[in-house]
Amino acid sequence: MAVGTELLLGQVVDTNSSWIGEHLASLGIDSYYQTKVGDNLERIRATLETAVARSDFVVVCGGLGPTPDDITRDALAAVMGVDLRRDAELADRIAQKFWRRGRSMPGNNLRQADVPEGAAVIPIFPGTAPGLVCPVGEAVVYAVPGVPWEMKEMMTGWISADMRRRAGDASVIQSRTLRTWGESEGGLAEQLNGVMERLDASGRATLAFLASGMEGLKVRLTAKAATAAEAAAILDEEEQAVRTVIAEQLIFGTDDETMESAVLDLCRRSGLTLATAESLTGGMIAARLVAVPGAGDVFRGSLVTYAAETKRHLLGVPDGPVVSEEAVRAMAAGACEQLGADCSLAVTGVAGPAPADGEEPGTVWMATSVDGEVTAHRQVFPFDRERTRQFTTIGILNQLRLRLLARAEAAR
Ligand code: ATP
Ligand code: MG
Repeated sequence: MAVGTELLLGQVVDTNSSWIGEHLASLGIDSYYQTKVGDNLERIRATLETAVARSDFVVVCGGLGPTPDDITRDALAAVMGVDLRRDAELADRIAQKFWRRGRSMPGNNLRQADVPEGAAVIPIFPGTAPGLVCPVGEAVVYAVPGVPWEMKEMMTGWISADMRRRAGDASVIQSRTLRTWGESEGGLAEQLNGVMERLDASGRATLAFLASGMEGLKVRLTAKAATAAEAAAILDEEEQAVRTVIAEQLIFGTDDETMESAVLDLCRRSGLTLATAESLTGGMIAARLVAVPGAGDVFRGSLVTYAAETKRHLLGVPDGPVVSEEAVRAMAAGACEQLGADCSLAVTGVAGPAPADGEEPGTVWMATSVDGEVTAHRQVFPFDRERTRQFTTIGILNQLRLRLLARAEAAR
């Protein structure tokens, strides 16, 4: 149940409910209802009453802040038929949070230490709004802040375990995500059909596809077992099963690994250094690479060569069009030479919206250089400027990854 008038007005999209639904599904907990209600005491109370009458657990997000329109606490007390009582210890903890950040605490924030009698405070407390656990008859209501990251920390860090414990479930649930790039959801689903049917029949794990936009598709395996070791063993086996069915090259990483961390790892393992020459991406590729801790042992740097003269001057791009095969090849070679790198990637193109250099918007030339050998190709994206740049960034990183994989394979 999501609380907030801004959700009803469409000013904030209720991503919390979809995240919570997905999270509960991954734990094997059935979700029956999702509701939204504005910041109105009577309507929040009535919605809560309906919710506790039809579900074992209710998660309420939002309205736990310090301002007068944050009234989830009051509604909870009303449903429980109790008063709010100020929790002195909690008030101290809230004050300390402000104090540690060197800020003085507005008096309003003490309201956040008001707890309905008979409710408990959720032990983890990532922001300044504490979460609450409120027993109401047979049901339990978990109240969490509306701020998405605070909500997620409470859900994953404590609430889901509490729910499963209360439901008498002593088993352990673990997930593993295989991150793929270059195949559609339909394509992957077709390839994995056999694995999914077998898992459905055996019930030993579940497999789900999660689209992550530009970042490809995630294939998530979730296993439930008596112990963590058993769950991990199931995941190991099923990961292998997935890997034997879908092309090895499609999977660029597991769990938190990113395309750029995969590229850096491959370079590192092969003892290769890396540079970029970027025109339409303007340093986006470099920015993603340096966001990875430890990138410095592989990544030499980037030349952002936007103007045609800059490309010619710094990278030796020959006269003629700069959105062309000759130009991108010269950029890739020039980056290796100028920055003293073993590998490079280079992009030049027309981000749009206007055509340039005689080419339509969305036209991109990409090149990679490995061991002095440059390969280049042209792609025309049907996207707007921003998406064209983002797709180019991840696409070229993937191309270099594939070349490095093939190189490592050949060396074996
Ligand atoms: P705070 O202490 O920050 O006031 P709160 O519990 O009162 O926390 P809200 O004021 O309801 O939470 O929401 C805080 C912010 O979190 C909102 O401005 C909004 O951007 C975001 N938010 C709230 N509810 C949702 C939701 N259901 N889905 C996504 N984002 C949300
Ligand atoms: Mg608020």
